[in-house]
Amino acid sequence: MIALLYHDVVSAARAATSGFGGADADHYKLDPLVFAAHARHAVGRDRDVRFTFDDGGASALEPTADILESVGHRGHFFIPTDYIARPGFLDRAQLRSLADRGHEIGTHSASHPVPIHTLPDAEIEREWVTSRQVLEDLLGRPVTSGSVPGGFNAPVVEAAARRAGLTVLFTSEPAPRPVERGGLTVVGRFSVTRATSEATIAEVIRGGSAPWRKQAALWEAKALAKRLGGRHWLALRRLVFRWRAAE
Ligand SMILES: [Zn+2]
Repeated sequence: MIALLYHDVVSAARAATSGFGGADADHYKLDPLVFAAHARHAVGRDRDVRFTFDDGGASALEPTADILESVGHRGHFFIPTDYIARPGFLDRAQLRSLADRGHEIGTHSASHPVPIHTLPDAEIEREWVTSRQVLEDLLGRPVTSGSVPGGFNAPVVEAAARRAGLTVLFTSEPAPRPVERGGLTVVGRFSVTRATSEATIAEVIRGGSAPWRKQAALWEAKALAKRLGGRHWLALRRLVFRWRAAE
């Protein structure tokens, strides 16, 4: 399985109409034409390519689901349930429609706490349990997959997901192969931003490993910089911009 991590599919001019607001969030919002080009690379591939979408922004149904269906694919949408029907987010009828059209729905926690891994265990578990329940009541079917808000995965987050009955947990870690941990399948994803080139996506969908290695190096550098503190973080930001420019 190759899992790609997307957020909203919306033009830059309409970015505020789908998902979370702000420049950081906007960096993850893709123009519909760009996303359509990505989706076309999956046509005719027998490889199991998963297009996954975090945050439950209003663009999930139109145009995202329409684009995926036009190339014979279905998406996997992860919903922070406290945001259902808020401005810019899917409402209950839209979520049912997505599921009815064959798309997968999973939880993205209830309140989208960032970071989630520093909350008390019981609160992390409540995030998974309540969001899962909301989605199951809404869709009338089991919901056993989730994705970690903000990418802050940790053993405590996985343990709580397991206790809440999830069987598959998608992370933001650029790990190309899913791993089994105590009955939970943990799936890394390739993060897609506005800076990601179509050639990079094509290579990932073809099964290439170079883009994963590059994203993993960046991921580890970020984790290290966060541990070391602010001074190094600034140095790293310059590095990140060089990486992005080269992408
Ligand atoms: Zn999120």
